[in-house]
Amino acid sequence: MSAESTAPRPAWGPAAFGDPCRDCGYRWDLTPEEAITVVREAPGRFTALVEGAEGTERHPDLGWSVAGYVQHVADNLLGWGAGLAAALAGWEREYVSAAPDDVAAVKRYDAVPLPSALWTLGHAADAWATVARAAVAADVVLEHSRRGRLDARTVVGAVAHDAHHHAWDVQRSLAATQRDS
Ligand SMILES: [Zn+2]
Repeated sequence: MSAESTAPRPAWGPAAFGDPCRDCGYRWDLTPEEAITVVREAPGRFTALVEGAEGTERHPDLGWSVAGYVQHVADNLLGWGAGLAAALAGWEREYVSAAPDDVAAVKRYDAVPLPSALWTLGHAADAWATVARAAVAADVVLEHSRRGRLDARTVVGAVAHDAHHHAWDVQRSLAATQRDS
């Protein structure tokens, strides 16, 4: 167990979001291949969503801007992909993963250019899809510092949900900005 395990874990998975997710409609019964497709399509989906946007648009209920959410989805894919890569290589110790809010602070989500975030997301989605497919095929288990012991299918479903859910956040951020202007 990590030192962080005493801190309350943020909501995660169908128990926290509902099935389907009460916000974004994501269905947790997707097969791993369907979930991987959600991620593979995420760069195109986000690119279309943010067409004409600055990236600085922010919903009053949300801490990150549109560009911040795109960057978060990319960083989430890279983080979980790196964890799956370690598990695939036989790494049996805990995979220590930084909390998203800490990553956001260090990487300055408040200032990240939208094109940078989209560029990272494109590469992250491709790289993640490759390692995710291999991790599911090998049925690996990831010992994750903040989420505990997870099989590859669970990781794939949750990561796909993150991408799907934050597309909804981007959508409502842009809608709220249009309403205010
Ligand atoms: Zn959702």
